[in-house]
Amino acid sequence: MTDAGRHPNIKLLTLSEVIDVKGYVGNFEVKILKKARYVSEKECTACGECARVCPVVRPDEFNSGLSSRRAIHSPFPQAVPSAYVININECLGHNPVVCAKCSEVCEKKCINFHMSDEEVLEKVGGIVVATGVEPYDPTELDEYGYTRFENVLSSLELERLVSAGGPSGGELIRPSDRKAPKSIGFVQCVGSRSAKKGGSYCSNICCMNTIKSTLVLKEHHPEIEIKVFYIDIRAFGKGFEDLYTKSRSLGVQYIRGLPGSIVETDEKGLRVAVDNGASGKIVFHDLDMLVLAVGLKPSKSTKKLQEMLGLQLTPDGFFLEAHPKLQPVDAATRGIFFAGCAEAPKDIKESVTQGHLGSAIESDGQKHDDNHG
Ligand code: SF4
Ligand code: SF4
Repeated sequence: MTDAGRHPNIKLLTLSEVIDVKGYVGNFEVKILKKARYVSEKECTACGECARVCPVVRPDEFNSGLSSRRAIHSPFPQAVPSAYVININECLGHNPVVCAKCSEVCEKKCINFHMSDEEVLEKVGGIVVATGVEPYDPTELDEYGYTRFENVLSSLELERLVSAGGPSGGELIRPSDRKAPKSIGFVQCVGSRSAKKGGSYCSNICCMNTIKSTLVLKEHHPEIEIKVFYIDIRAFGKGFEDLYTKSRSLGVQYIRGLPGSIVETDEKGLRVAVDNGASGKIVFHDLDMLVLAVGLKPSKSTKKLQEMLGLQLTPDGFFLEAHPKLQPVDAATRGIFFAGCAEAPKDIKESVTQGHLGSAIESDGQKHDDNHG
């Protein structure tokens, strides 16, 4: 992101949304709504003085709500540009009588409450649709008690919790009492491979993400008991089976079967009931914390972009490529390409490979055009 921000041939429009696209390959006209930041991108030094005095406290989306931020804030540590931004819907108001504390302390005088949204028109030759994905919200799966039980987390929340830059500085703690858990369970395929709720497809990344998490946890806390409840483990990439074997050799228990119910016990512990497919008996597991390996859904912007660009979607709601083998990154409309999870859930390696494939095909096409031009 920082490299892209510095590249002389890349123009980054942040806080922006594409609202209309006209034209054809080599000659697209894109209308963009650039939303007001209320802070000058050029002047702000990201000193953070304004956030220290802002009285509005809200859950920090970047840390999955496990920490808080102010109405004026930096979206995340490596944000490009690094300038702060005001969420004007949360702000108490720019009338100095009401608040404007941020403006008073900003020495650079870069806060401007009179900024307004603006429309920008850009001419481009091609379009890459890279909408990303949304994590599945497991609240609707009542049996897992997400949001009902404090110590049931999503895999994304665990990711933030064990991150050195996260809300606990990388220290593994239970949300309920901030003590280190002695046992953790992982539930696989939450919102994936389900005919009832979530998606019917495999989300591709969750098995390996859980295996990675178990290795990280075991590296820092070798004594911790870890149980993974699963339908089947899909470790099909290069070297992935080795990681699965390593996780098992470190004592992580892989238990076939998904929890049917979860109840809270004393001191906010969790009793997980799992149907043992082999014996046909219900087995209870007492755990300190449970992590739901949530699946991936198409980005919220998919439908709107699909209508705007006249593209097609798969039955799962992702963008449909022109041909899965011969044109895997092309849309049916010439000049429009896909990258990353816009097409389907992918891991980082696959997304990067696809990005390279796109540029290789484009430069190859360019050579062909040059040769025939
Ligand atoms: S808006 Fe002003 S006070 Fe806030 S981070 Fe930027 S320079 Fe610092
Ligand atoms: S004016 Fe808004 S952003 Fe600034 S300190 Fe007050 S509430 Fe926070």
